[in-house]
This record gives sequence, C-alpha cells and structure tokens, in this order.
Amino acid sequence: MNKSDLSFDQEHIWHPYTSAIKPLPCYPVIKADGVFIHLSSGEKLVDGVSSWWTAIHGYNHPLLNAALKTQVDDFSHVMFGGLTHQPAVDLCRTLIDITPMGLDRVFLADSGSVSVEVAMKMALQFWACQGNSHKHKFITPRNGYHGDTFAAMSVCDPINGMHNLFSDSLSQQIFAPAPQTRFDKPWNEDDVKPLEQLISSHHNELAALIIEPIVQNAGGMRIYHPEYLKRCRQLCDDYNILLICDEIATGFGRTGKLFACEHADISPDIMCLGKALTGGYMTLAATLCSEDVAQGVCQDEPGVFMHGPTFMGNALACAVANASLSIIQKGDWQQQVANIEQQLKEELTRCVTLETVADVRILGAIGIVETKTIVDVAKLQKEFVKQGVWIRPFGKLVYIMPPYIIKQAQLRQLTTSIYEVLNAS
Ligand SMILES: *Cc1c(COP(=O)(O)O)cnc(C)c1O
Repeated sequence: MNKSDLSFDQEHIWHPYTSAIKPLPCYPVIKADGVFIHLSSGEKLVDGVSSWWTAIHGYNHPLLNAALKTQVDDFSHVMFGGLTHQPAVDLCRTLIDITPMGLDRVFLADSGSVSVEVAMKMALQFWACQGNSHKHKFITPRNGYHGDTFAAMSVCDPINGMHNLFSDSLSQQIFAPAPQTRFDKPWNEDDVKPLEQLISSHHNELAALIIEPIVQNAGGMRIYHPEYLKRCRQLCDDYNILLICDEIATGFGRTGKLFACEHADISPDIMCLGKALTGGYMTLAATLCSEDVAQGVCQDEPGVFMHGPTFMGNALACAVANASLSIIQKGDWQQQVANIEQQLKEELTRCVTLETVADVRILGAIGIVETKTIVDVAKLQKEFVKQGVWIRPFGKLVYIMPPYIIKQAQLRQLTTSIYEVLNAS
C-alpha cells in the first residue's frame, strides 16, 4: 500500500471506535496465514487477538478456504424468504446439536448486534403475544457488552456504552451491579442479592435478563463465578422472565467449554452466537431459542416474527461456518485451549508484580492484564508491533485470545511482549 492510500484511509475511512478527525494509526495488511498477520512494511506479527475472537483456527485455513471455493461455484447467496439450501440446514442442525439442551429453533442473523436485537425482540414479542406487554424491560449486570445497535446498546454498561450521550434515544433498562466473585474463588452468596432484589421488585415489567455467560467481554473483560449464572437461571424461572445468554464472544470453546453456559450447567431460553461462528471468515450470527419461546412468539396474533435481514442465511457464510464447526467437532480445541490456559497461568501471572498492573485474569484461551491507569493505545500498539506481536489494548485492558492453533513458542512471544512492554511503560 502506498503513502497516498494510507493518507486516503486516514482522511476518509472510519475505523472502529476512533475519531475521524484525529484517527489512530493503522497498519496495512497484505496477508494472514496461520497465527501470523503480515504487514506491507514487511513485519510478520503473531496474532494475539484472533481478529476480535473470530479466527479460532488461524488465518487462511485450507479447509475453510475450500468450503468457500466450492460454495461460490454453486451459488453465493439467495434470498432466504421462500428459499432454503443445504449449507443453512446443515449449519442449523449442527448448532441445535451442539448448543445446550432445549435450544431447538434457529434464526440466522448477519452480525452479533443483530442477533442481540433479534433475541430482545423475540423476548418482547413472546410476552406481548400472551397479553403481557407490560413485560417490556430488560435487566442486565453492569460491565456488559452486547453490541452497538440501539437495543443492544441499551443493555451495554451505561458508562462504557455512553448512555448519557444517547439518553433520549435509548430504552431505559434496569442495571444490576456486576458480579464480583471471581471464577475460581469461593462463591459469596451476597454477590447475587442485589440482582435478586431488583428482579423481585421489577419482575412484572421484565421481559428478560440478558447476560454474557462467565466472561464479560468488551465491557470490562471480567470473569465471574459460575454460581452467579446458575442463580440467574433460577431467578428467571422463579420470577417468570426469560434468560438470554449472549455467547457471541465466549462460544465455540474459548473459555474451555464449548459454550460458557456449560460452566454453570444451564440452558438459556434464548442464546446469541456470532464472532467465531465462521472461523473468522465472514459475518454471520445466530439467535437460538427454545421451543416454548418459538411457540409463544408465533402461536397467536401476529403469528409471525417480524425480522428478516436481506442477507439472512447467506450461503457462503453458512458453508464456511459448517467447515469451521467440522474442525471444532473433531475436538482438538479442547486440548489446545487447555494448553493455552496452562501456559497463560505460567507466563502471564507474573505481570501482577509490575508497578503498572492492577490484576491478571485467565480463563481458557483468554488472558487479561488490567493496568492501573488507562493505556496509550497507539504507543503500546507500536511497541507490540516492534516486538512482532499483534495485541490491541483498550482502556485499562491489555488482553489476548489467540487462535487455538498457536504454538507454545508463539504464545510465549505474546506473553513476554506483554510483560516487557508493560514493564517499560
Ligand atoms: C462482539 C459482541 C457483540 C456484537 O457483535 P457484532 O458482530 O460486532 O455486531 C455482541 N455481544 C458480545 C458479547 C460481543 O462480544
């Protein structure tokens, strides 16, 4: 990429969560292969981020490439209204098969945020169709992240989600304190009390509780005790509200279980999937729900679910998702993620001794270092690139969730860079 392309990018193209006027620098990529991202400047970076949780099998994977090439010669996309196809049927059959019990209906959406919109709309319509349209609010713990569209944004952490800025346009939801008991510490019963109190006083107006199971991601990278999630399930049953689990980041093995719900041995009424669904190749998401929810939404008036993205069930995306799931179903991820977790515990934990570091958290193939003060993203990014790794911090969080195929030495390069860069900062 030449200089004028780069300045065009800076002057005209919006990148995620950045200023259009004072953009952060961007690094041009020419190729990605396995765990490596190749920059046009010649550097080869070990990817610590899996392109935001997606590229779990690494880049340029022969099986995923082949699935796309085969599908593109049949057809790339047909409308899903009135038409169906093998890749979509195969995908939905697998999803029903591998997700927690009772999730038997699938709505294919085109991004994670849309799948959250769909989940929330399902919950609202479920109650409205039964004459309970006063059940129209959502309860959620603070520090959550569910996407950037308006309904999703209304259940994101009010501070991170900049609710003040949008207060006149956002639905007012109910926020419980974030869970405090850490994943591997003894459960503290007080942790769920505030949620319990809020649910007991608001259940008449609540459609659903929405939560990221076990790991809160972009809203704070926090890992909480499975008992909290168990109690969410129990409270939803006791007070007659639906449970929506947003597994968009945690799904497909990242936390050491295929789905994070399994840590608590629960099934939600509605589940959102996305991110790693296509192995990082294309945008695709899914909202699964129980038979009860589907019946409730569609039994009487209006009898239909009013949602239908233009690219719903995109055949290329389904085909590559099927290839990705076939790799998952071989089961190697289990050992790979366990090995990554072990190595992160051995190599990343020492960061707590650094002056600048407040906390280190690890679960499955996720390693998080929380700093005491907000980091200078552009500066740290540059240091990391110098060290040959791709790590993109935000706020006080320097975190990695590498492709499952990462080798020991490559992972060591990531953990060493984090230690060294934070030590020098
Ligand atoms: C990324 C994410 C989303 C939003 O997905 P997009 O594909 O970016 O719209 C929603 N929920 C969670 C938990 C996520 O991590």
